[in-house]
Amino acid sequence: MKPAVHYGYGSLTLARKNNRTVKSLKLPILALALIAQLVFTVPVSYAYSAYSAPVRLSAPETAQSDRMKPSIERLEKELVAKYGEGQRARLRRGMLQVANFWRDEDGEPAVFEEFVRTNFAGQQATLDTMFERFEHNLEQLNGHMGEIGREFRNQSDLDVGPILGFDEIFAGYDPSAHVSEDFFRNKLAFIVLLNFPLTTLQQRLTEGEKWSRREWAEARLAQRFSKRIPAEVNQALSQAGSEVSRYIAEYNVWMHHLVDANGNRLFPPKLRLLSHWNLRDEIKADYSDAKNGLAKQRMIQQVMERIVTQTIPAVVVNNPNYDWNPVSNEVKSAAVNDADESAPAATVVRDGVLNEPEPNTRYAKLLLAFNAARKVDPYSPTAPTHIARSFDEGREIPEARMKAMLEQLLSSPLAQQVGKLIAARLGRPLEPFDIYYNGFRPRGAYTEAQLDEIVAARYPTAEAYKKDMPNLLVKLGFSKERAEYLANNIVVDPARGSGHALGASMRSAKTHLRTRVEKSGMNYKGFNIAVHEMGHNVEQTLSLNDIDHTLLQGVPNTAFTEALAFVFQNKDLELLGLAKPDAKSEALKTLNDFWGTYEIAGVALVDMAVWHWMYDHPNATPLELKDATVQISKDIWNKYYAPIFGKRDVVLLGIYSHMIDSFLYLPDYPIGHMIAFQIEEQMEKTGNIGSEFERMATIGSVIPDLWMKKATGAPVGSEALLTATKKALTEVGATSKASSP
Ligand SMILES: [Zn+2]
Repeated sequence: MKPAVHYGYGSLTLARKNNRTVKSLKLPILALALIAQLVFTVPVSYAYSAYSAPVRLSAPETAQSDRMKPSIERLEKELVAKYGEGQRARLRRGMLQVANFWRDEDGEPAVFEEFVRTNFAGQQATLDTMFERFEHNLEQLNGHMGEIGREFRNQSDLDVGPILGFDEIFAGYDPSAHVSEDFFRNKLAFIVLLNFPLTTLQQRLTEGEKWSRREWAEARLAQRFSKRIPAEVNQALSQAGSEVSRYIAEYNVWMHHLVDANGNRLFPPKLRLLSHWNLRDEIKADYSDAKNGLAKQRMIQQVMERIVTQTIPAVVVNNPNYDWNPVSNEVKSAAVNDADESAPAATVVRDGVLNEPEPNTRYAKLLLAFNAARKVDPYSPTAPTHIARSFDEGREIPEARMKAMLEQLLSSPLAQQVGKLIAARLGRPLEPFDIYYNGFRPRGAYTEAQLDEIVAARYPTAEAYKKDMPNLLVKLGFSKERAEYLANNIVVDPARGSGHALGASMRSAKTHLRTRVEKSGMNYKGFNIAVHEMGHNVEQTLSLNDIDHTLLQGVPNTAFTEALAFVFQNKDLELLGLAKPDAKSEALKTLNDFWGTYEIAGVALVDMAVWHWMYDHPNATPLELKDATVQISKDIWNKYYAPIFGKRDVVLLGIYSHMIDSFLYLPDYPIGHMIAFQIEEQMEKTGNIGSEFERMATIGSVIPDLWMKKATGAPVGSEALLTATKKALTEVGATSKASSP
């Protein structure tokens, strides 16, 4: 399904900070959500809190504020005389905030002066009324836009019959696309900027703890209008985003055409794997293939490395017409035909050279993304790079802290211990592709088929699940009354895909749980997902309807809503009245999460280093970017992974497709795992999911560290994950084994 999220900035100004459509475990979609988050940004260095004394005024002298200087000085005298000395600082700040976004088309200085005179709220009562009215009206705007979007996407999202061509146009239409532009044009955005403070991340970090809820809501209100990106920049960004996504989306490898030195084909006909997700998942699946698994895994690693180094022959990309030996790199016309009609035709090859490498297209696309993102820089004075916007404005976690957290995790001696345990379980030394090891899966007490049967009997229809929701919520620890209330706010719809949760943006609307129920009834997988999505719906309800300010709707970012949804999902067996997983199973699950985080933390560091390199070398060629990326991947591997894997100069960390198409999204994955463990630890500590969930979900979209301190007493960090991993190693008896001679 298409999320109602686009690459541009302007079209999203009024979107909620966290993507309210949450699809279970389908993180690629969240990549777009990050771009959405960037809208909620805070670009201005002269910004300061209106509430902290003494007031700092360090406005940059921009051309616009220069031009308005005489007006600003005149107005300051005039309006301070009218409203009193106490308003001077607020007034100056507001005028500068407006002046910096004011363009010639908005009017002459005289128009600016009249605007300020009319719209500056010089009295508290006026300001209160203004705040309340904006809060109310923006809730209505967001809410109704959300409802239109949901209705327009019904045909494509729900299992309600065929999708016609025009349905897709409806689904792709974003009614709020021009709202930001409109709000600057009709000057509502300027009214906000005149009266409410723009803040920097530094201020939200250092002063935010002392802010009242109203002050936080005001800060979030101003943030909605903290950027005014020209339409052509948004369009360039959006175009680059689609072009790069298309390159990634079509990058398939036809697996039956991979041959080894003896001409053997290890993979079945027609198997077409998308890089890198499907390739990686095939490596994971191959652990259970006792016969050919290892050979397949080695071959896929070779393919991945050739994609990173761009030594992959161009003709074998998404093309079943050639056989390829990834080790020798020899290419021949395909000796077998397993392609269907949709497969591309044979490529015309120049001079009969079949194995001419892909011409660094991967890195040309990354440069395209970089150059589009860079176009926003001039309109973002205090976060003047995409890197700064990604961390300071998107995640609201400073880059230096993020890096330190990742390095702490990667340097933990626990990684060495878990690595040894994996080697012992595999009965062989680790190989580089074992960064994708997923063999810590616990053996459940029930088979999938047994679980399917239990679930199908209980939930023959989506209606049956809906009816049982209050009961499920009581089992999770909510009071009967709260369970009824929450369940009444969730509409259950038949999903076309695997399922997702769609939140509302106004209190009069309901959240939607999209679930898939087969004709034979709900299966276990469907139930597991439905419980996860129900967690999102409950969070979405509480964080909108039960929160003090709708301007603070939601949670800091998608990692938080995912973590809360996993709390529900992890209880799925108990919700079915079955025995919960035993301590050993829990431990294996933790080790699995640790290893996944350990892998992706390195990938995130590569992503971050590559973006820095691009900013340091803005005129680089695709070849130079390739060389740099390969070197960065090797360096990070050598530092953190080589000691455990016993092999140097591996480039696998550079294979992530999100690195190319998702604009520095990858650090969200490891941070998401860390957050999930922190929340889980807190829930376990108190032993009451219901009341803790209600408490956490109503903290709202303050910055992540503040949210986490309120929720658990500590800022975001990797300690909870490391503590759980240590405990898990003891549980499976690995620590003693690892430390014995
Ligand atoms: Zn989810």
